Amino acid sequence: MTVNNPHDIILEGDDLLEKMSGLDDKLYNRVIRYLAENSKDGKVSITNEQLSGIEDILYDEIKQTDYEKNLKKYLQLFDAIEAAISLEQVALNGLKAAAIRELWNGDPLKQVLKNKVIYDLGKDGLKRYFVDGIAQAVRETSYFNLDIKSAMDVLKTKLIDDQYTKQYLKNAAMGSLAEYDGAIQDKVRVTYGFHTMVYITNTIETSRPVCTHIKDKLGGRISDTDLQKVLDEYCPGGIPNKTDYVPAKRKVKHKDGSVEFKDVMVPKGSGMVQNTFLENWSQQCGGHANGCRHRALWTV
Ligand SMILES: [Zn+2]
Repeated sequence: MTVNNPHDIILEGDDLLEKMSGLDDKLYNRVIRYLAENSKDGKVSITNEQLSGIEDILYDEIKQTDYEKNLKKYLQLFDAIEAAISLEQVALNGLKAAAIRELWNGDPLKQVLKNKVIYDLGKDGLKRYFVDGIAQAVRETSYFNLDIKSAMDVLKTKLIDDQYTKQYLKNAAMGSLAEYDGAIQDKVRVTYGFHTMVYITNTIETSRPVCTHIKDKLGGRISDTDLQKVLDEYCPGGIPNKTDYVPAKRKVKHKDGSVEFKDVMVPKGSGMVQNTFLENWSQQCGGHANGCRHRALWTV
């Protein structure tokens, strides 16, 4: 592993999730083979006994890919980012790396955040939520005695067209490294009584209103008092502002593959996470979906 700053580690995590997303074709092909093996007169016909083994068949298919290898790498990034944050705090705030390790190791949130990812992306969570969703669709094709062609269509829509794996990984893990980073930053703020927030990002066309406001209008380095004022305006009482509109850009992908940024009006709180407060700002500042990849650090 060559990455050594938190930002790059977050990007590497996104890359790994992207690699792990490439399961749809494989699972679809396996399911189609399974349906073909279990059909009668051109219709899906699977006994309950056979159906009970479908989860294992699908999980075995996942095991034959690089998924587990990439997952292992992904989980290692949590340790890597913690180490990188420690070094960053040495440089930014003159703290001792060991002090960061100690305060974060003593926080139960550390295990909560890690365990959620380990569960959702590991064998147990995959079988319970991810594989089960596909198995359920297969069961229904048998229950409704669909002809093979219709069954294939149903599963193609679910797996390929709707990007089943990508959606699962997005819901389960996208932004989890950034949240882990943010949770440490919030802990540092409380522990050392820091009052200045440093917003690290290069805003992009699709950055959310709150990001462009803090970075481009306020210069990216503001006091906690000023951050509270921003939140009162963009996310009052922890609820994203949906009534006041500001200009923004929306990315539009055309059918020929070209990309255009359209001028639109969006609510001030668009893209913000419910229950965002000053106290959890570093963790909840969100925006992972639109690619801004900002980070919120604290200093004196
Ligand atoms: Zn942002």
